[in-house]
Amino acid sequence: MKKMLKLALIAAAAAVAFGASAQEFPAKDKTVTIVVPFAAGGPTDRVARDLAEALRKPLGATVVVDNTAGAGSSIGAARVARATPDGYTLLLNHIGMSTMPALYRKLSFSVPNDFEYLGMVNEVPMTLIARPTMPANNFKELTAWIQQNKGKINLGNAGLGAASHLCGMMFQSAMQVDMTAVPYKGTAPAITDLIGGQIDLLCDQTTNTTSQIEGKKVKAYAVTTSQRLTTPALKDLPTLAESGLKDFNVTIWHGLYAPKGTPVDVQKKINEALKTAMKDPEFIKKQEALGAVVVTDKRVDGPEHKKFVAAEIEKWSAVIKAAGTYAD
Ligand code: ASP
Repeated sequence: MKKMLKLALIAAAAAVAFGASAQEFPAKDKTVTIVVPFAAGGPTDRVARDLAEALRKPLGATVVVDNTAGAGSSIGAARVARATPDGYTLLLNHIGMSTMPALYRKLSFSVPNDFEYLGMVNEVPMTLIARPTMPANNFKELTAWIQQNKGKINLGNAGLGAASHLCGMMFQSAMQVDMTAVPYKGTAPAITDLIGGQIDLLCDQTTNTTSQIEGKKVKAYAVTTSQRLTTPALKDLPTLAESGLKDFNVTIWHGLYAPKGTPVDVQKKINEALKTAMKDPEFIKKQEALGAVVVTDKRVDGPEHKKFVAAEIEKWSAVIKAAGTYAD
């Protein structure tokens, strides 16, 4: 009996000494939560939900999505930066990871230092869309409408630092017209208001806009990529660059993160599962139907993902500084 107790104590001490990395991950009774820093039903949420489903088998765990929306993804990102670094709380975020550092004067975390980078997931184009009652029927007519309505135009976004905000900022500066930014907690509520005519314009990911364009619930004018898209509902839309906004090119990307200090072997397990999930034909099919492209290059691994985000931070910080837009 005494010997048994001693053995149990030794085992407990060893578990403490080795920390979470030596334990079984994922434990059978625990759930992996992917935090989405935007409202449910939006582009980031949809990618996360498809990914959660594809991850369940390779990770051997229940994977759920939890939305912590607001402030252009900075509230949800802060939640994960502060979470216990054990692999059970992850963050799926988009290009906001690279706009937040320049945009927010008081960010409670550091994008380069407070996360482990687990790999990139996909890239998604954007579309410039308008309320269904917008009189303009093509980009030329929209340009004329914008000139006639200066000072009265409401441009929606999913929060300061969101992809839609970034695209909107670039659009305004390319058009040389100031518009009133109307922030939401995500694309889903922004599109609802666009359809209802409460806002005039929105630039957002094809993930959510394609079906609305197809169903004629919104008007569409252009895509933000340098090339036209092949998705049937979008293939006739011109690029903004060919419409006269020279060099306009924005593509949104998503990546998976864990809090800094997550054990290396736990990170490795998640990364392996992520790479398997991203080869799942069902996942690829769903992404393609939404106009998204699953990443297959070296950025599927943490180090290249981190390098890419660092370059994006540099790129977008310059754009944000030039625009002089800040948030507290
Ligand atoms: N698409 C949104 C954005 O503009 C965010 C979202 O709801 O996924 O950043």
